[in-house]
Amino acid sequence: MAGEPQADCLFCKIVAGEVPATIVRETETTVAFRDINPQAPTHVLVIPKVHYPDAASLAAAEPQVLADILRESREVAAEDKVEDRGYRVVFNTGAGAGQTVFHAHLHVLGGRGLQWPPG
Ligand code: AMP
Ligand code: ZN
Repeated sequence: MAGEPQADCLFCKIVAGEVPATIVRETETTVAFRDINPQAPTHVLVIPKVHYPDAASLAAAEPQVLADILRESREVAAEDKVEDRGYRVVFNTGAGAGQTVFHAHLHVLGGRGLQWPPG
């Protein structure tokens, strides 16, 4: 069924507590944890507890949860004290754009200068 945990999904395992992660925030619908290979001083992933392969699929099925993720991204930025300076939120979508984990996740990046356009 759409949104159900997938046995072979790394981020479903983090949600279930089967794979360790440095969790910084959790809500009824989301988990936020530090990226294992950080690209900036603040690099946190905000994920839905439900499984969808990418952000657009989540938006189509459960738009409120997508809103929860964005709201949480600001809380993460505030807690890491990067909200005032500015931070970037990114949904890599598709392998060609660098998506490697096919459970929707929002990257929250901050704490250094951020180039635009990104590479
Ligand atoms: P993406 O390339 O957009 O699919 O992002 C996946 C992100 O997950 C990458 O930035 C990885 O560094 C990160 N990642 C992979 N495994 C883990 C893990 N076990 N804990 C935390 N972050 C991870
Ligand atoms: Zn998953």
